[in-house]
Amino acid sequence: MANADTYVASFFGSSRYFLHAQLATWQNWFFTPAVKLTKLGPYDYLSPVVIRVLGGNPGAFTLQGTNTYIIGSGTERIIIDTGEGATGYHDNLLAALKEHHVSSITDILLTHWHPDHTGGVHSIRRTFPAARVWKRARPGGEDQYDRNGPFQNIEDGQCFATSGATLRALFSPGHADDHMSFILEEEGNAFSGDNVLGEGTSVFEDFHQYMASLQRLRDCKPRLIYPSHGPVIEDAMDRVDAYIKHRMDREAQILKAMQDAPGDDFTIREVTAKVYEGYPYFAQLAAAHNTNSQMQKLCKDGKIMLSCEAGLFTGILHLF
Ligand SMILES: [Zn+2]
Repeated sequence: MANADTYVASFFGSSRYFLHAQLATWQNWFFTPAVKLTKLGPYDYLSPVVIRVLGGNPGAFTLQGTNTYIIGSGTERIIIDTGEGATGYHDNLLAALKEHHVSSITDILLTHWHPDHTGGVHSIRRTFPAARVWKRARPGGEDQYDRNGPFQNIEDGQCFATSGATLRALFSPGHADDHMSFILEEEGNAFSGDNVLGEGTSVFEDFHQYMASLQRLRDCKPRLIYPSHGPVIEDAMDRVDAYIKHRMDREAQILKAMQDAPGDDFTIREVTAKVYEGYPYFAQLAAAHNTNSQMQKLCKDGKIMLSCEAGLFTGILHLF
């Protein structure tokens, strides 16, 4: 059990963007010292066509750091995600490329816009100026990624081929509205981005989309999952099923919390405190993000009504 100082230090330690990006895995993190996370090397050879490079940005919301994956078997390769641009990351990436006799990166695929996945783009482009950058455009035209420079839009089902490997893009919004996963056709394995993590569970902006994306990933029947944070997931289908069940259980708990409470008005914070009773305050703050998304979904389902007063969502139990 981590003491208060441990998790507070972890919470504020390394993330410059913590509330809008990776609020992931707080359940594990706040109750588990960092040393219990699986230890990963600065770069690891995972399969004949997959190398993982750590982003050098460990923290409360990034676990061991953000993974970059080097894909292929030739001298030119594709990479997935770029870390946040932390000190040492670029050197590790170059060392991994050199060790495997890679002379250039042709394409940079970004799973989504969050800064811990995109912050390394600048340094990689400086070293490999011909590399094409790919990301799904965000709906509505506004994209916080834009300050990093131009990118080409990834279409659902689009394939990216390099020697020894073909990646098929799978549009999978929910954690972020531009989120893309990738299927490595030759292995039948998946790069899940932040939708499924190596340890703990993830957060999402849109619960309905997130659940549909988990199902899309499940439909691909991956044998292994290479997540954007944490170690390789060996029991891929079981893990996806556990994620789906976990969220459905939370939904039932949210409804029960509202039914059991006296009165009929609840703020998101109050519902979160009931569902996540016993969790530290900071963990509940992170959980409120998910509770909010799940209550939005319950509202769409007609099970509750939501109103927004003074900037705070209030869920009102609907008779059903
Ligand atoms: Zn993310």
